[in-house]
Amino acid sequence: MVTRATDFSRKIIEKYSKNALVAVDATMGNGHDTLKLAQNLMPNSKLYAFDIQEEAIEKTREKLINSDLSCDNYELICDGHQNLDEYINEAISFAIFNLGYLPGGDHEKTTKWSTTKEAISKVLKKLDGNGLLAIVVYPGHEAGSEEATGLTSYLSNLDQIDFSVMKLEVINQINMPPFVYLIERGNQ
Ligand code: SAH
Repeated sequence: MVTRATDFSRKIIEKYSKNALVAVDATMGNGHDTLKLAQNLMPNSKLYAFDIQEEAIEKTREKLINSDLSCDNYELICDGHQNLDEYINEAISFAIFNLGYLPGGDHEKTTKWSTTKEAISKVLKKLDGNGLLAIVVYPGHEAGSEEATGLTSYLSNLDQIDFSVMKLEVINQINMPPFVYLIERGNQ
């Protein structure tokens, strides 16, 4: 059973990243999604992961070094995901954003709508024909609420000929639970 949005993101990685040639974890955090991707991708895939905190890079690197990976062609980048085009030249087959702040970390270092928007528009430009972008959104804190509002409006306005946007949400939880947006390139 999948009952939490964070479980959705794990399932989405398992199900949709298998054949991804180029995958992006835009928010490394504690490295759970990066590890899952490195275990799920093909040996010849390439994985890029971003975070602005050195601490996140170190935690993630430790996790990757101590695990069996199916893809060890990864780059852990200490920079904002809004600069991803400085690092990625290829088309992107799979990208995931797990927004918000690190649980137990500095709440000031949360993702913000202005930079999230820049990063997402860059991913959409680079998304290949069968690519998928997954975004886990946390509307239950102040910056998160602003981010959720901005993101919802931005994604709602994408032309349906270019992209298809789906929302996965739990509808019987209190306190504004996280939800997921899935974006695919249209095939017309
Ligand atoms: N909310 C999730 C964890 C999110 S972690 C959960 O509950 O599991 C979000 C990560 O994004 C943090 O590690 C933070 O440092 C990082 N981050 C914030 N702004 C960023 C940016 N512009 N580019 C890349 N990473 C960023």
